[in-house]
Amino acid sequence: MLAQRLVAALARPAAQQPLWPDPARTAAVVRQLREAAPIVTPAETARLSARLAAVARGEAFLLQGGDCAETFADNTEPHLRANLGLLKRIALVLTHAAGRPVVPVARLAGQYAKPRSQPVDAQGLPVYRGDIINSVEPTLAARTPDPHRMLRAHANAARAMAWARRICREELADPHALHQQNLRFVGSSPVGARHLRQAEELDRSLRFMAGLGTRGRTAQQSEIYVSHEALLLDYESALLWADTRGPEPLFSSGLAHFLWIGERTRGLDGAHIAFAELLSNPIGVKIGPNTTPEQAVEYVRRLDPHATPGRLTLISRMGHAQVREVLPPIVEKVTASGHQVIWQCDPMHGNSQTSGNGYKTRRFSHIIEEITGFFEVHRELGTHPGGLHLEATGEDVTECLGGARGLGEDDLPARYRTACDPRLNAEQSMELAFTVADLLAE
Ligand code: PEP
Ligand code: MN
Repeated sequence: MLAQRLVAALARPAAQQPLWPDPARTAAVVRQLREAAPIVTPAETARLSARLAAVARGEAFLLQGGDCAETFADNTEPHLRANLGLLKRIALVLTHAAGRPVVPVARLAGQYAKPRSQPVDAQGLPVYRGDIINSVEPTLAARTPDPHRMLRAHANAARAMAWARRICREELADPHALHQQNLRFVGSSPVGARHLRQAEELDRSLRFMAGLGTRGRTAQQSEIYVSHEALLLDYESALLWADTRGPEPLFSSGLAHFLWIGERTRGLDGAHIAFAELLSNPIGVKIGPNTTPEQAVEYVRRLDPHATPGRLTLISRMGHAQVREVLPPIVEKVTASGHQVIWQCDPMHGNSQTSGNGYKTRRFSHIIEEITGFFEVHRELGTHPGGLHLEATGEDVTECLGGARGLGEDDLPARYRTACDPRLNAEQSMELAFTVADLLAE
């Protein structure tokens, strides 16, 4: 029955799928993937579901972040350490400001497939769709979809997950060490003085804890969950466990704890939403400014049929100019449905622009403005602003404009390294963290 529902879901129209050149070879790869080892376990995913239920009830905060697109070349221990370290440092600041647990979910160990707005690039070549499908290199051969890349993606995801577990357990579980790094940010940032009070209060809290005999190195402090966009259905449908623990039999993805459906593939008649309906994992749906309140309620009805708090995360990415106008009627209608969803703000994807010198970028002030609007909307409606979804790296890239250093268009070429969308760098991310801390503490 469940297997038949999967076949029916995948038979629906699926947007943004590659045209594999050799279907027989693709089928052989998918058969091999079915035999591959899972990246995550159902018990871990169940733990995340419990944590997200608390977020939906307003008792915790969800922090999700990482690269827009992971690449095989950047799947290195230093890169993972930088990104995970940043996530944990932001989480520490937000935990303190909110006085609530922060649930860390990385865009990691599978964020290899990208939806694109055009099928070809400026040179007329098939567009880069992420390392799981083709190569960024601008030749016809490299851009031709290669199913074997799904096996490479799986192997890379397995390695990333093993590293992430180790790094979070052995290197990032000590809040004092994370705090020392944050103090270095406060000491060196041009706007550090603005955040000094927060940092000093955190310092006092840590010393108070130490006085009570705990350094805060708890199991919770070393946890990490992973997520990616469930875009490439050949990959997503290859590693599923049967999960009979809930009110109806479903599949638990072996590929990530949390999966989301993107803005370009959220069609209610399409394969992606139908596929997500069959998963017991917590699910996100990106909602852009043309989402209607009726559509939002339909996602809730389809993806949260048993009214499970935190089962569904609605990830609004409205843009700084529209969030205050577009989000309220959606929140009101969903709230009236009685379902407890997580409201998460993605302040990145509604604020993309092209710089005068041709770089896809985002302005720090627009990102902050959308987050501020998101908090205002929820405060006004009495709902919980439950989370943030960021594209951010712990490395010193030059991809987003602005921030305390006033990064300008002429600075972008220096270290513009993203394979897809522009990420906040470490300093911009910490500035964002302290700014959001002020919003949380209000
Ligand atoms: C993304 O998260 O990288 C993405 C493509 O987002 P969206 O679906 O919101 O455009
Ligand atoms: Mn992106």
